[in-house]
Amino acid sequence: MDFDRIPKTHAGSHEDFDYYVREEAKFYHFVDDFNLVGTHWGEPQLISAGYFLRLLMEGSSARAHYRQDTWWSETDEHSEAFRKYYTPLLDHGAMWRQSNGGVICSAMPYGEEEEIVAAFLEMVREFQYPDSIKMQFLDDAYRFRPNGDCMIIIYYDASQEEFDPNLSERELRQKAIRHSAPGRYRSSSSGSFVRDQYVKEYAKRRAHGVCQLCDQPAPFVDRNGRPYLEAHHVIWLDEGGDDSIDNVVALCPNCHRKMHHLNLDEDVQKLLQVARSAG
Ligand SMILES: [Zn+2]
Ligand SMILES: [Zn+2]
Repeated sequence: MDFDRIPKTHAGSHEDFDYYVREEAKFYHFVDDFNLVGTHWGEPQLISAGYFLRLLMEGSSARAHYRQDTWWSETDEHSEAFRKYYTPLLDHGAMWRQSNGGVICSAMPYGEEEEIVAAFLEMVREFQYPDSIKMQFLDDAYRFRPNGDCMIIIYYDASQEEFDPNLSERELRQKAIRHSAPGRYRSSSSGSFVRDQYVKEYAKRRAHGVCQLCDQPAPFVDRNGRPYLEAHHVIWLDEGGDDSIDNVVALCPNCHRKMHHLNLDEDVQKLLQVARSAG
């Protein structure tokens, strides 16, 4: 699936943009809060249910398969599978590419919330989607066009995945990038923020045993023989920080205490730079 790059400002030269975006401030609020960099308007109603799932789970690198082995000649990019979900769930839909390569789907369906939830659950059941595929109602502050009765997103909740501790640094990095996400829709149903294990583990692994604030080696090794460091969110989650690799660093216990007691601006700036440049 090709994603059009989202213009930084409303340039006026994009036909699709003019057609779909009626309230620019709300649109950019949505774009910023969900780290969106690309859009594909008008989907997913024509793609196959399998391709939709792969896009959500694998991100924008997921490729369409062009098999023609079914009697109705369905391909991944042309399918009737979502037809019945169009009005109750996927109306005014769009697919979005996030800066970390993840893909989410938004839509503005018509109906009562219970009807929309019921349509989503039916879709999940019909296509046997895993529990990690979630739907959420969004605040009206994001609703950039007047259509539909509400705005929803459908997304893959990576925090549901079981953690595999035996990954190479490269595999771990890929996982951590995909698991990095804006804090907003990662708060669990209990209200506390979800801290993703891949993000945390990768932050520690890339520090190579050295505290990223005082630049001293970890004070001891743990039971598994690994340097002991603690993962820390530079911008705290409850202050709107993201659970993403560009906001998480590895600190020795002393420096970790220091950040939670003092949170000096110069230290915050240093750590943000470290997190963002380490990739
Ligand atoms: Zn330290
Ligand atoms: Zn911390």
